[in-house]
Amino acid sequence: MKMESIEEKFVRTHGCGTLRASNVGEKVSILGWVSKKRNLGSLLFLDIRDRTGYVQVCAETDSIEIPELRNEYVVEISGTVAKKDVPNKNLPTGEIEIVADKIKVINTANQPPISTQEVTDANEDIRLKYRYLDLRRNVMQSRFFIRSNIVKATHEFLDNNGFIEIETPYLAPSTPEGARDYLVPSRVHPGQFYALPQSPQLFKQMLMVAGFERYYQVARCFRDEDLRADRQPDFTQIDVETSFLNQDEILTLGEGLVANIFKKVLNYDVKLPLRRMDYSDAVNNYGSDKPDTRFDLKLIDCKAVFAKSTFETYVNNKYVKAIKVENFAHELSRKKQDQINLTAPKFNMKQFGYFKFENGALSGSLVKFLDENVIAELVKLFDLKEDDALIVATSNILRDVNFGLGAVRSALAKELGLVKPGTFDLLWVVHFPLFEKSEETGEITPCHHPFTRPCDEDLDKLETEPYNVYSYAYDIVINGYEAGGGSLRIYNQEVQERIFNVLGFTKEDIERKFGFFVESLKYGTPPHGGFALGLDRLTMILSGTDNIRDVIAFPKNLSAVCPCTSAPTEVDEKQLEELHIKIIGE
Ligand code: ASP
Repeated sequence: MKMESIEEKFVRTHGCGTLRASNVGEKVSILGWVSKKRNLGSLLFLDIRDRTGYVQVCAETDSIEIPELRNEYVVEISGTVAKKDVPNKNLPTGEIEIVADKIKVINTANQPPISTQEVTDANEDIRLKYRYLDLRRNVMQSRFFIRSNIVKATHEFLDNNGFIEIETPYLAPSTPEGARDYLVPSRVHPGQFYALPQSPQLFKQMLMVAGFERYYQVARCFRDEDLRADRQPDFTQIDVETSFLNQDEILTLGEGLVANIFKKVLNYDVKLPLRRMDYSDAVNNYGSDKPDTRFDLKLIDCKAVFAKSTFETYVNNKYVKAIKVENFAHELSRKKQDQINLTAPKFNMKQFGYFKFENGALSGSLVKFLDENVIAELVKLFDLKEDDALIVATSNILRDVNFGLGAVRSALAKELGLVKPGTFDLLWVVHFPLFEKSEETGEITPCHHPFTRPCDEDLDKLETEPYNVYSYAYDIVINGYEAGGGSLRIYNQEVQERIFNVLGFTKEDIERKFGFFVESLKYGTPPHGGFALGLDRLTMILSGTDNIRDVIAFPKNLSAVCPCTSAPTEVDEKQLEELHIKIIGE
C-alpha cells in the first residue's frame, strides 16, 4: 500500500500588521517571527512580526502550553482578537492583541548577531553582512515594496503607451557611457573580454533601427566608478527609447511616466508639464546642473559692485558671485567659516569671503576694503536685512565659482533645514553643452555620449567652437538628484562623423569600439531618442532615504565589496587557467 505523504500546512488568516479593532472577537491565525518577549509570570506577551507589521500576542501561561520561545523563532499562533485596555499608540495594531490558544514553533533561531528592531545603531557593514536579518525590519522592507510598485507603475504606463519590453545582453562589448567597464574574460576566446554594459545604449538604438519604435527595459547597468552615497557598481535603469518623437514629445512622455509612478506609489499628484530649465540658468542661478529648487539661496553676480572695492582679488578676478543666507550671521563664527572653507579647494579656490549684516551694519574682515557707497550698493543689491550673511566666491573660472557656491548652497540648506520633508521638486534641465573638458585628461569628451544630437542652430560651430555647441540632451531632476536623463540621437551619418572627428576618434578606434553600431546606422535609421531613469535613485527619493544601499537588497559598500557574500573573492587556480589568466602581483 502506498503511504500518504503528510504535507506540512501553515495556517494564516491575517497578516500580523493588518489586524484592527474591527477584528475584535475574530478567531485568527498568524505566521511570523518573535520580535520581543515579555514574561510576566502568569502572562506572556509576544510581539510577532511579518512583512505586514507587528501585533501583540498575549498568552495565559496556565491555560495553554507554552513552548520554548526566543527572539526570531518562527511561529504559528492562533487565538482570538481582543481589545487592549491601554492602546499602544506607536503601532497600527496597537488597539488590539491576540489572546493565544495555540503557539507552535515552526523553527528555532540562533541569537541574531544584529538587532532586528526597527531602530538600530548597528554599523552599516555589519548590517550588510547579515543583510537577511537587517531586511527583516519593516522599515527596510517598506522600501522594497515601494521599489516594486515603481516597477509596476512603469510597466503599466509604458504598456498603455505602446511600448514593449526587450532584453539586451549583459555579456556585451564595451559601451561609451564614459565610465570604466567591468570586464568578463572569455574562456573560449583566449585574451578576449566581454564588457558588462554601462547601459543598453547601443542596443536600444539598434532596436530603433530595427523598427521597434517603442522599447523599454528595466535594465541592470554596470559601471566601475568611485562609489558615493548615491552610486553603486551595478544599478538598475528604466531604459526607454522611441522613434519619430521630438525632444518636447519625449519629455512629455518621460514626465508622464514619472507622474504615474508618483501617483501610483505615493498617491502624489505631480503638476504637469514640468518646468524646463536651461542648463546655463541652472548652473548660473543654483550652481548645479541638478538644482534643488525647493529653497532659494540663489547665486547672485556681484562683480560690478566689488569691482569698485579696493580688494584686489575681487577687482582683478573675472567673476565674483555670492549667496545670501538669511538669519545666519549670528551663526557664522570663525569656526563655521573654516568649515565652509573646506569646500573651496575642491573648486580651485582658497576660501570664500564672508560678510554679516548685524546691528544695521555690514561687518567682516573684508569690509575695510569697501567704502560707504560700495556698502550701500551691496545692501541694496542683496536687500540685506538684520542677521543676513553673504558668502562670496571669486575666480577667473566661472565654472568654479558656480559649482563651488552651489556645493555650499546644498550643504547649508541641509544643515539649516531649509527643505520641508515630504516635499517634491521635479524639473527638466535641458540644453546641455555637447562637450566638456575631461577632468582627468583635460581632453574634449561628450557630456552625455557621442551619439547625442547637437542642436541644429549650433552645427556650424562644431569644429570651430565645440564648447559652445549645445545638444538635445536633458536630465530629470528630483529634489536635487539627477533621477534620469537622455537625449535625441544623431541619425545623420555626416554629423556623426564630424562628432567623432572633433573627439579625435580615429577610423580604427571607431571600427574597434563600435563599428557594428555605426554600420547599423547606414540602413535607414529613424530619428530617435530616449532616456533612462535611475530606479535606485527614484526609490531613494520616493522612500525618503539618501542612502542608495537602503533600496538595494544586497548592495556593495563604499569599497565595492558585498559584505554579505564577500564578493569579489579569489577563485580557484583552475578557473583562472581555463580563462587564460595569470595574476601578477598584488
Ligand atoms: N544611456 C544613457 C545613460 O545611461 C541614457 C540615455 O541616453 O537614454 O545615461
